[in-house]
Amino acid sequence: MNYRVFIIKYAEIGTKGKNRYVFEDTLCKRMRQRLKPLGNFNVKREYGRIFVIAESEEFDYDAVIDRLTRIFGVSGVCPVKVVEEPSVESISEALTEYIDSEYGEKSFSFKMHVRRNDKTFPLNSMEMDAKLGEVLLDAFSKDGLHVDVHNPKVKVEVEIRDKAYIYSKVIPGPGGLPVGTNGKAISLLSGGIDSPVATYMIAKRGVIMDAVYFNAPPYTSERAKEKVKKLGTIVSQYAGPIKLHIVNFIDIQLAIYDKCPHDELTIIMKRFMFRMAEDIAKMEDCQCIVTGESIGQVSSQTTQSLSVINEAVNDIPVFRPLIGMDKQEIIDISEKIDTYETSILPYEDCCTIFVAKHPVTKPTLEQIKKSEEKLAGVIEPLYEKALNEIEVVYLK
Ligand code: ATP
Ligand code: MG
Repeated sequence: MNYRVFIIKYAEIGTKGKNRYVFEDTLCKRMRQRLKPLGNFNVKREYGRIFVIAESEEFDYDAVIDRLTRIFGVSGVCPVKVVEEPSVESISEALTEYIDSEYGEKSFSFKMHVRRNDKTFPLNSMEMDAKLGEVLLDAFSKDGLHVDVHNPKVKVEVEIRDKAYIYSKVIPGPGGLPVGTNGKAISLLSGGIDSPVATYMIAKRGVIMDAVYFNAPPYTSERAKEKVKKLGTIVSQYAGPIKLHIVNFIDIQLAIYDKCPHDELTIIMKRFMFRMAEDIAKMEDCQCIVTGESIGQVSSQTTQSLSVINEAVNDIPVFRPLIGMDKQEIIDISEKIDTYETSILPYEDCCTIFVAKHPVTKPTLEQIKKSEEKLAGVIEPLYEKALNEIEVVYLK
C-alpha cells in the first residue's frame, strides 16, 4: 500500500536546544526543494513532528522515498495511514486494515505504542494500548501474531491528535544535520573514490559544499571532466546543489615539470592546488577546505607529505574526514552512496600524468620551498591566468 502521508524522524536535531527550530526549518526547506520536481507536497512542522503530505492522489511513491532518504538530517521516513475522524472504533478498524495490508506473513511479535495528544479522547494512551493490542490479537492471533513488550519485531505506533496516524515501518535515512546549518566548505574533488566520500561526509554535518576540480587538458580528457561532474551530481543528491569550479591546471603543471625535481612534482603540484583552493574559498566565503586524503594511502599522503602540503594553506583549516580510514572502509561508504561505480571508471587524472617513478615520501619543507624558488617569475602569471579563467558549473 502506498500512503500519501509521511512522518519524518530526525534523530540528532532532536538534541538541539533553543535553536532547534532553525534545524527543523532548514530540514523542511531541503525537503521542499528536493520534492518540488515530483509534484505538490506539503511539508509542515506540527507538534514537534515533521509531516510530508502528498497533495495529489497520483505521485511517484518510490521517487519520493528515494529523495527523502537522501536528505541529511532525516534519520527515517515513516509512511502513515491517516484516520480522519478518530474514535476507538474507527482507529481499531483502520489499524486492522493497516496490519492486514502491510504484512502478508503475520507470525511475528508486536508491541502497541499509542500516544494520545488529544486529551478529550475517551481512552488514555495505556488504555488504548491494551484495547488496540486486543483488537489485533482478535484479528490475527490465528495467523501467529503475538505480543512481546520487551523485544517486539514490530512496534505499531498510533498517534491521536485531531486525526490519528498509524505507522510501523521506518525507512532509514542518512542521519546527520540539514545542509545549510553549519557554514560552507570547498572540497577538492577529483575523479577518484576518496574525495566524493569526503565531500559527502562533511556535507552530512550540515555544511554547504562548493567543489574545485583541477584538470589538465589535453593531457586529461573531456571524459575525465564529465566523470567528476557526474560524481559531484551524485553527491549533490544528498548535499544539495554544488558549485563546481573547474581549473585548467596544465600550464602550472608544465612549469613545475620544467623547473623542479621530478621526484617532488606531486608535492609541489598539490601545494599549488591547495593555494588556489584557499583563494577560491576566500572568494566564495568558504570557511574551510576538504580533501579525501588518508594517512599512508600513497606517497603524497605520508605524514611528512601531508604536513608539507598543508603548509601551503595560510588562514583556514583543511578538513580530512577520511584521515584514519582504511581503503575498504572508504569503498564501503562509496558503494552505499552510489559513487563507487563511477569512481572506478579508468580515466586519467591530472595527478597521474606526470608522476615520478620514485616520488619523495619524506619531503622536508625546507627542500620543497627551495625547489619552488625556481618557479619565481614564471609561475605567478600562470597562476593568475588559471584563477581568472575558472569555469563554473552548478551540479544538482
Ligand atoms: P581520490 O580517490 O579522491 O582521487 P586519491 O587516493 O587518488 O584520492 P590523491 O590523488 O593523492 O589521492 O589525492 C588526494 C586528494 O587530493 C584527493 O582526495 C582530492 O581531495 C585532492 N585531489 C587530487 N587530485 C585532484 C584534482 N585533480 N582536482 C581536485 N582535487 C584533487
Ligand atoms: Mg585521485
